[in-house]
Amino acid sequence: MLTRSHIPASRVGHVSIIRIEEADPVPTPGFPAGTTLDTYRRYSDSIDPRWYDSDGAPLLGMSGFVLSTGGVNVLVDTCNGDWPVAGLPPQPEASPFVGRLRAAGLAPEDIHVVVNTHLHLDHVGCNTHEAADGSVVATFPNAEYLFVDTEWEWAQQSAAAGNPSCGRVDRAVAPLLEAGRGRLVSMDHRVTDEIALLPTPGHTPGHVSVEVTTDAGSAVITGDMMHHPIQLFEPGLCSLFEEDSDEAARTRIALLERWRRRDVLLLGTHFPGSGIGLLEQDARGFRYAETAL
Ligand SMILES: [Zn+2]
Repeated sequence: MLTRSHIPASRVGHVSIIRIEEADPVPTPGFPAGTTLDTYRRYSDSIDPRWYDSDGAPLLGMSGFVLSTGGVNVLVDTCNGDWPVAGLPPQPEASPFVGRLRAAGLAPEDIHVVVNTHLHLDHVGCNTHEAADGSVVATFPNAEYLFVDTEWEWAQQSAAAGNPSCGRVDRAVAPLLEAGRGRLVSMDHRVTDEIALLPTPGHTPGHVSVEVTTDAGSAVITGDMMHHPIQLFEPGLCSLFEEDSDEAARTRIALLERWRRRDVLLLGTHFPGSGIGLLEQDARGFRYAETAL
């Protein structure tokens, strides 16, 4: 059943933001690894007790975000979708992602640009789907799909080597490039005047976050640069499946330094709760304040 918590919305300047949640938060040990109950309790003014379980495992959801500005709708990450992956158990249920997008007032035809923060299976799945005749077609027929060039290069090699994390690129990425529907771009590509890719390598080599910059404030869609708000306070905590853990930690530390100079709205791709929260500066450093649902 669809509830309001699946589609929280926000706004920065002229850019409106809608989160489309595919999966409800569940305990996900290892994302990040090494957490205990004490890890979370140390930051109890920012970390809600509903965001971890009694064993100290983080709760993670899965969401895409739609940024809308000047009549352009940009979808960032398309979640798991329905494509099976060799070596992994089949998904028990069909993805609710596109249905929830429609419930938020956006048909697939309304999306103009699709960005994948990286090419792991849980971020590309609804890029395409299978048509009645068995062909693979773009789910968002009017969109240009943007893929980071270095990420695509790495993901092809990784998929060929049998890495199941890249097990959807053959159906969710390659057909779009072959059909001329996708474009390879650099890690700092600008999408609109207010929306640009932000290089955040480490989790994967070509991983990007998406930054919104306006006169009224800024926002960042994390992708898997961090999986849980606890990593705002413990940026050295790494998740499983980080291609380069040291680089991933350096990326988080550098971003936190950048954000110390201004408040930023964080849009957490895997964050539990509303997934949207303000990182506010205070006398002790900063705190994470989830937006009300
Ligand atoms: Zn992910």
